[in-house]
Amino acid sequence: MNPRNSLNFSGGPGALPESVLLQVQQSIIEVPGVGLSVLGISHRSDWFAGVVAELEGNMRKLLGLPQNYHVLFLQGGATQQFSMIPMTLLRGKTAPAEYLHTGYWSGKALAEARREGPVRVLWSGESGGFRRLPGDDELIFSPDASYLHYVSNETVEGLQFHRVLGRDDVPRVCDMSSDFLSQPCEAERYSLIYAHAQKNIGPAGVTVVLVRDELLKDAPTDQPGFLDYRTHINAHSIYNTPPVFAIYVVLLITRWLLDDIGGLERMAGINRSKAELLYRLLDGSNDFYRGRAEVKDRSLMNVAFNLSNPEIEKRFLEEAQAAGFSGLAGHRSTGGVRASLYNGLTLDAVEQLAGFMEDFRRGNS
Ligand SMILES: *Cc1c(COP(=O)(O)O)cnc(C)c1O
Repeated sequence: MNPRNSLNFSGGPGALPESVLLQVQQSIIEVPGVGLSVLGISHRSDWFAGVVAELEGNMRKLLGLPQNYHVLFLQGGATQQFSMIPMTLLRGKTAPAEYLHTGYWSGKALAEARREGPVRVLWSGESGGFRRLPGDDELIFSPDASYLHYVSNETVEGLQFHRVLGRDDVPRVCDMSSDFLSQPCEAERYSLIYAHAQKNIGPAGVTVVLVRDELLKDAPTDQPGFLDYRTHINAHSIYNTPPVFAIYVVLLITRWLLDDIGGLERMAGINRSKAELLYRLLDGSNDFYRGRAEVKDRSLMNVAFNLSNPEIEKRFLEEAQAAGFSGLAGHRSTGGVRASLYNGLTLDAVEQLAGFMEDFRRGNS
């Protein structure tokens, strides 16, 4: 396989495992046992109903998800969930929803919630430039909130919560787009989890929503059908034409997680090794590489850092690109450097990057 593809540090869409890409390549010509290209199989076929059923089962197995949760495969990305959640849980309510403003993506979610109903921002890291997350002593969760919303991993800033937040008597809603299935997540403590596929578990086009049944019992019934979770529950995620290809690739990823990796504990171990390697390098670089996030809140998925000035950062990114390391430029909103270490990226790729970074430091300090 193309070595550049294996060195894809992009913030998203992210790297996928080579063994899965080879199966995808095969399936474009002909899905084994079906005799058709995955791009031309009916979403009403028995084969596709089987794909959705197996994928749902794999999600349940990976996460230990109880039966009172629905597993949905929706369109519109995480961004559509920013709206669909408050349309369902906040419209017409007087009790505010509580939101944490911890970075770029939680800010987007917050703005959409405000269109639908009352929102209380429990904590904001904006004035501090989103370099840290709140501690428990900074958060007072109200027992009468409509729900709590937060982002488990702020992809742009490289900040990750390493604990579950909130109260057990208020519905927890979490955007796990950039760390879903990268580690176990205590799914049964959340009322709703959403994650699009394109960071850790597949290509763009499908968003996984796990929703506890009772969360929807008072949901309004006058929404457009497409934006009502119950429509998709009743249709088993095949209400209209779903993204068959994207859903199939996510199925292959879940098989890879179960059969090749051996579950989410194992995946977490690999991801931890990758991140520790880079953070150790930053910390031992004598301030040549400067981590963005406070140490306790560092993300295992997105390692964001700066060099001493924009000129040397530009040179670093150019030389890295020329050496085959792709996707290292920070998000357009923050600049700097960001190495994203999603599930599909190997420890070997991170070791190669670490080697490049050591060489670059030696040549430039
Ligand atoms: C990338 C990202 C999004 C945006 O998702 P879309 O699928 O492009 O709408 C939302 N939340 C988080 C945490 C992300 O990393």
